[in-house]
Amino acid sequence: MSKRDYYEVLGVSKDASVEDIKRAYRKLAMKYHPDRNPDDPSASENFKEAAEAFDVLKDENKRARYDRFGHSGLHSGGFNEPDFQNVSFEDIFSRFGDIFGGDIFGGDMFGGGRGRARSQRSVGRPGNDLKINITLTIDEIAFGTEKTLKVKKSIKCTQCNGSGAQSDADYMTCNTCSGMGEVRQVSRTMFGQFVNVQPCPTCYGEGRIIKNKCSKCAGEGRVKGEETVKVKIPSGVSNGNYITLRGQGNAGIRGGESGNLIVLLEEKEHPDFARDGNDIYHDLTISVADAILGTDVEVPTLKGKAKIKVESGTQPGKLLRMKGKGIIGLNSTVAGDQYVRVNVYIPTDLSSDDRKKVESLRLSKHFDPKSIETKEKSFFDKIKDVFHG
Ligand SMILES: [Zn+2]
Ligand SMILES: [Zn+2]
Repeated sequence: MSKRDYYEVLGVSKDASVEDIKRAYRKLAMKYHPDRNPDDPSASENFKEAAEAFDVLKDENKRARYDRFGHSGLHSGGFNEPDFQNVSFEDIFSRFGDIFGGDIFGGDMFGGGRGRARSQRSVGRPGNDLKINITLTIDEIAFGTEKTLKVKKSIKCTQCNGSGAQSDADYMTCNTCSGMGEVRQVSRTMFGQFVNVQPCPTCYGEGRIIKNKCSKCAGEGRVKGEETVKVKIPSGVSNGNYITLRGQGNAGIRGGESGNLIVLLEEKEHPDFARDGNDIYHDLTISVADAILGTDVEVPTLKGKAKIKVESGTQPGKLLRMKGKGIIGLNSTVAGDQYVRVNVYIPTDLSSDDRKKVESLRLSKHFDPKSIETKEKSFFDKIKDVFHG
């Protein structure tokens, strides 16, 4: 494949100075920058071609070889012809970081294009996650619900659109790291050479610094604010469950990714129900007469009042099961049950007439629990015999 002459590519004469070459390259880089030519695939080819030409001509040795032997001169004598075909734009910027610095180009030469190119890696610093607690009643948990929350958090600054800069051209390449965003420290020890790579302390890994900070956010790219967030809560959640809303946390610094919003779920105590997994319990107190004679009573359920039959002779503590009246499990379509725990109210305040009635009941052998006790006793005695006999 025949290659174009490098001087021709940059549009400079054979005796052009390094400054001329830089200037010519800068012009072409701006013209063919892919961010500026999103619909023109040949632009990226031209952009890479210019980068390659610049790579050779800016270097005294390479240029001399190229002048004498042409393209083939770069294949031998310890030289490699630069190959930018498989190199990302990001790498081109990194390699030529020094010439994109503010000293030569006076800031961000691509007017924001740099920022977009960087976004493939990461721009700014990510925002923190936020935690928020919400309290749910058992009724809400039973069928799922949607909550609207007002969340106080950092939001993107609208004046600078999150960049933190006064205007698009207000950046300069960080001098500490030459735009790389990281600094390398080489240390020699008796075990060999170690390279320690750390985020640049000057630009916090962003590779660039702002010259004039946005007046509204003082360069952070975010401000304090409030946002309304809707959370869908599925049925069957439990105390301590949480829902992560991606990107709904604090906005990042200078266009960095937003953190997450973590919604912690708490279960509020219910006046009528206690919960055990997907089952719920309701305490029902009935009169002595109802316990003896049986009755129909109304009890609260998660879907309103419902009738339940109390059989005659119901003992205190008995659990009455209402099938499917509990909570629909998380990731399930089947509901748990409701249990009604029967308590019997023993009156403490009797009229003389009541007292007479109860006294006559006391005489009835049907009211004497001894018969049950003797039955139970004989049962335990039998067990004792098994163990000791
Ligand atoms: Zn701002
Ligand atoms: Zn830096």
